[in-house]
Amino acid sequence: MILANDDRKPTTTDAGIPVPSDEHSLTVGPNGPILLHDHYLIEQMANFNRERIPERQPHAKGSGAFGHFEVTADVSQYTKAAVFQPGTKTDTMIRFSTVAGERGSPDTWRDPRGFSLKFYTSEGNYDMVGNNTPVFFVRDPMKFQHFIRSQKRRADNGLRDHDMQWDFWTLSPESAHQVTWLMGDRGIPKTWRHMNGYSSHTYMWVNAEGEKFWVKYHFKTDQGIDFLTQEDAVRLAGEDADYHRRDLFHAIERGDYPSWTLYMQIMPFKDADTYRFNPFDLTKVWPKGDYPLHEVGRLTLDRNPTDFHTEIEQAAYEPNNLVPGIGPSPDKMLLARIFSYADAHRARLGVNYKQIPVNSPEVPVHSYSKDGVMRVQNVKDPVYAPNSYGGPAADGEAYPRMETWHTSGEMLHAAYVPHAEDDDFVQAGTLVREVMDNAQRDRLVNNVVGHLSAGVSQPILERAFEYWRNIDKEIGDRIAQGVQGR
Ligand code: NDP
Repeated sequence: MILANDDRKPTTTDAGIPVPSDEHSLTVGPNGPILLHDHYLIEQMANFNRERIPERQPHAKGSGAFGHFEVTADVSQYTKAAVFQPGTKTDTMIRFSTVAGERGSPDTWRDPRGFSLKFYTSEGNYDMVGNNTPVFFVRDPMKFQHFIRSQKRRADNGLRDHDMQWDFWTLSPESAHQVTWLMGDRGIPKTWRHMNGYSSHTYMWVNAEGEKFWVKYHFKTDQGIDFLTQEDAVRLAGEDADYHRRDLFHAIERGDYPSWTLYMQIMPFKDADTYRFNPFDLTKVWPKGDYPLHEVGRLTLDRNPTDFHTEIEQAAYEPNNLVPGIGPSPDKMLLARIFSYADAHRARLGVNYKQIPVNSPEVPVHSYSKDGVMRVQNVKDPVYAPNSYGGPAADGEAYPRMETWHTSGEMLHAAYVPHAEDDDFVQAGTLVREVMDNAQRDRLVNNVVGHLSAGVSQPILERAFEYWRNIDKEIGDRIAQGVQGR
């Protein structure tokens, strides 16, 4: 809305001091040199020079919105977490993203999408830092950094490089399930509203009696799954690099609020030892025939950000934000992320990033954290515990420990002990043969042939054909023929 000049407030410096001009610097005479004590000009230039903060590494490109989560079923027999008790409604904030691209990269590049959710619960913030895929490329955090580097840019020419992508993937057969998923239709969602969100990791739920369960989260889109073909995605990348960001903002602006229904897979604690797949391996799903979906509630997004920088760019999600009744599992990737996300925020936003309003809980904070760059909330004495002066005291009876499980063993560097049916290719093969139809398989082959035909060198191509034959002999043969026939 354009306002009349009379309605405008006078411009001030950041210190609130009225400024004489928005247009002219302070000079000695109209044509004279600029004076150093024009502190408003200096403030404008200095602020501008510092506007950009480092982009996220990875998940740099994205956007998000605010909303709420409402529990519609009763899962109190599985968790005591207040956020999942019947009828509870909790404010939420979500951020969607691509993984490999930079902050200005096209939304429609083929890539998994981040699906990061913050619940502002009555017991503190609970974050689920998920993706739109139920699995991931690697299962050990030692390989994560290498994986991301292989998907980003080369050292010499600064280009993305399919050769290094396939080099890493074919030397890491555990990637087969996620790569199959990525090269299929769901590898480029039509919009963020038309995709599911998954915890991917297994978590632990604990009920009021202390009984434990292993769980996986499935946020299924109420808009229906939809995708872009490779050709449409390439066209849109040129026409509108912000296609997904724009779609979400406009949908919420016109009152077309997107929603997702949360379902859980719930595994009795004891099943984990003998289940046919290792339930903590991030490259595997739990087939729904083994562990069906239980409805929990609905997530609705109904409010756009008003300041992209403070509310989206500075939003900090961290899988260590777990509330009573929810704990981690022995998934090695999850346990490493519990360190690395908070560390990334400290590096990027500073140690006091939880004081940025979007990251602050709706409940009071009574911590002993103190000082540091950009602390904006006052610290009160006493600044130590234990103390005799009324400072916060941990309630070990109400909250005896973080939700944990028992473990013991020798310290070593080793792969997971395989379960009866663990194999890097088995679930990828099921996806190709039993979930995809003929048209989907045709598009999968076309997508892989196109990807492999763009700069992948001969020895790696041969490995890629073998990789696909291990997933499915017929699909592998078709991919080899397709690439060789070009
Ligand atoms: P189901 O037949 O019960 O489930 C198959 C699921 O696959 C569907 O429900 C849907 O998940 C998802 N799906 C459909 N089309 C595609 C596609 N083009 N790309 C990726 N996913 C798709 O079988 P199972 O549970 O036994 O799983 C079989 C295979 O399905 C797995 O190996 C895995 O690759 C894939 N899958 C399984 C999921 C699980 O948690 N069990 C979740 C997603 C995929 P949704 O309902 O979530 O949209």
